[in-house]
Amino acid sequence: MKQIFFLFLLISINLFAQEKNCGSILRLNEYLKTNTEAENTRSKLEKLTADFQFQKKVNTTIPVVVHIVYKNATENISDAQIQSQLNVLNEDFTRSNTDAFNTPTDFLPIVANAQINFCLAMQTPNGKPTNGIIRRHTTEEFFSLLGNKIYYDSLGGSSAWNTEKYLNIWVCKTESGILGWSQFPSGGDPETDGVIIDFEHFGTFGTAKYPYNLGRTATHEIGHWFNLFHLWGDNNCGNDWVNDTPIQEQANFGCKMHPHTSCSNSGDMFMNFMDYTNDACMNSFTEGQKNRIWASISSWRIGLLTSNGCSPATIANSDAGIISIIEPNNLNSNCASPIYPKVVLKNYGTTTLNTVIIKYNINGSNDYYQSWNGSLNNNETDTFLLSGLASTGTTHLLNVSTISPNNNIDINASNDEESIIFSSINGEQVQLSLMTDNYALETSWTLLDENDNTIDSGDSLANNTLYQKLYCLGYSCYKFVINDSYGDGFCCNLGNGNFAIISSIGNIQYAQSVPFTFSDTSYFCIGNTAINEKNTTYKIYPNPTEGNLWVNQEFESDNTPIFARILNSLGQIILSVEIVNNKINLSCLKNGVYQLVIQKEEQEYLHKIIIQK
Ligand SMILES: [Zn+2]
Repeated sequence: MKQIFFLFLLISINLFAQEKNCGSILRLNEYLKTNTEAENTRSKLEKLTADFQFQKKVNTTIPVVVHIVYKNATENISDAQIQSQLNVLNEDFTRSNTDAFNTPTDFLPIVANAQINFCLAMQTPNGKPTNGIIRRHTTEEFFSLLGNKIYYDSLGGSSAWNTEKYLNIWVCKTESGILGWSQFPSGGDPETDGVIIDFEHFGTFGTAKYPYNLGRTATHEIGHWFNLFHLWGDNNCGNDWVNDTPIQEQANFGCKMHPHTSCSNSGDMFMNFMDYTNDACMNSFTEGQKNRIWASISSWRIGLLTSNGCSPATIANSDAGIISIIEPNNLNSNCASPIYPKVVLKNYGTTTLNTVIIKYNINGSNDYYQSWNGSLNNNETDTFLLSGLASTGTTHLLNVSTISPNNNIDINASNDEESIIFSSINGEQVQLSLMTDNYALETSWTLLDENDNTIDSGDSLANNTLYQKLYCLGYSCYKFVINDSYGDGFCCNLGNGNFAIISSIGNIQYAQSVPFTFSDTSYFCIGNTAINEKNTTYKIYPNPTEGNLWVNQEFESDNTPIFARILNSLGQIILSVEIVNNKINLSCLKNGVYQLVIQKEEQEYLHKIIIQK
């Protein structure tokens, strides 16, 4: 007799499987078969659940992330359809569902408001803003109940968000006959902990298909996720571990008339969400089920209570940008090297801007970076100079942008950058610094080009005064002449007169003062122009040289030793030798411009030389 009945049950289940099937129990049992430790944990959980008395007085809201894993456009259901499912969950778990009045009167004493709300997640586990919906295209035809592909990006599914902090719901095409399944507390691995719903049984419109078209599949599966069993305990008059639900013989399908009795009860609670009836015919959880739900939330799923997934992401309101470039401008020609951009920074953000990185370049290459520090309130601006950068050619595109305001991500990148096209003179900016002595009226100076045309000059100077002037000098050679009408130079007994000509970029020292009496002339060249030798006391050649430099002393006939000193661009002595056989070996020097000082007794003669190997 027993065997006959068992056979009947199998046939029945097969028949019903055509209508509705939830895979949760099968998946749970498969998992526990090979995971005895999980089974022990579940036993402890059941012990705790049996002792649990619901104390919670306020509602809680559980963050939900919905993974839409679709193969075609139909399966890629709309945001609105997803929201319709969230609405159903919020109604069913707070007993605010409009069909609650359908509950038969004799069950009213046991039905419950489970006091649970759900939200589509507003922030990701990393604190970024989100709408709580992930969409992933897959090549899988469908996802099978006992497979795990749906749970992993790498397998054509979608990887779960932290399952302790979020309810993960995957919506996809499930294997035929299965409406969905979920994972019980301690009923599987953390990465697979969530709920799967077939795309034709999610939400209340769109792809939702009668008779499981009112979102109750998700209500039911989330019930399992909260540790609820089917009312018939998946057994003939089995146990669902809830005291107030009537024992019932088996699953109910379709819609039943109350009372529909079995197992000596006074009526199956076929309208319970944990039965198998049509969506339109179910409407209740019970107090006993609520107690199990909250026992699971208070133990295995306690992480939900501290999840911030339902709170908006609190990103810093950091938004800065360059609003204009004042210099260089497209009205004047600018010295090609260096360019000193003058820019205006604005704080668009509501938080005070204290630091930002300025990135700039010419013609899109060789990025320069400069940090700005200060304090700008919302909508305030600051105008400042950037460090110089070199440019070649005559027309240029300068780009200036901001990065990392207050070390955060800029929430609006579209206002970060400003650009300007400008023209420039082929040349380099140099600075003349001249300090006078106690008798400045004796001093005068002239800056000349290589054809002895005067570029600038100065006299009638004030005592002990620093004069600084900027020039844009083209790529050519120049000389700077300093005179003292009294013939005692301007250094160092009566004051400390001196001068230097230094490039604005790279601090190359092109000329500097040496002791003189009435006059001294310094020669220098800008760019890679060969030096035109102007000093006729000694001829030196070749210049540029690869290493050996010859010094012609044809006007010298005595045997007085002659010395040579080589100075680098900073004026530092890097080589000091006696000139023997008219030759200096400079092969140890790197390529570059140097000063050669030839000294005979008290006389010194300055040359510029270029090492070019
Ligand atoms: Zn189920």
